Amino acid sequence: MNRRTIITTLAAVALAATIAGCTSAGPGTAAGPGSVPPVTNPSDLGPDDGYIPVGETVALTDDVPAVTKLDPQLRDALDRAAEDAADRDVAFTLTDGWRSERYQQYLFDQAVTKYGSEEEASKWVKSGDQSKHLRGDAVDIATADAMDWLSRFGAEYGLCQVYANEAWHFELLGDGSGECPAQLTDGTAG
Ligand SMILES: [Zn+2]
Repeated sequence: MNRRTIITTLAAVALAATIAGCTSAGPGTAAGPGSVPPVTNPSDLGPDDGYIPVGETVALTDDVPAVTKLDPQLRDALDRAAEDAADRDVAFTLTDGWRSERYQQYLFDQAVTKYGSEEEASKWVKSGDQSKHLRGDAVDIATADAMDWLSRFGAEYGLCQVYANEAWHFELLGDGSGECPAQLTDGTAG
């Protein structure tokens, strides 16, 4: 595998993770993309960006920005849920948590390359200022058993799956009463 093939492969893997790693947008965002220097290679990203390489995960106890920059209330809810899930031998790990703006923008730029236009890319990935991950308000759960546990019990902690097509993406949307808002179809719906 030559260098170009490796880079192309890495980009494809990163993009797959992006789509899988979601990009939900919320209301009230302002500035457009391009306000941060572009990152063209994932090797330019590091832990300070919240970057978690494809295939790796972090634990809620890890002292990395992807975790420590999560919203404190979200993190508290996750900690409480994880403690209870551990009683069933279910461990919570994350493939994504907080992301820097340039990391999010990198993911968006990768999608533009893949889909050919910002408009098309926006159906899959939000630009650098629009992701809940950017604000530390979302996590992507790594394992199927943890996703399954959260899909059944997460609402008791206010943890809700937002998009029907993203079983891994959870935000603190409930009040802990066991109710979550109706799921959106996908990332373009909200
Ligand atoms: Zn997500």
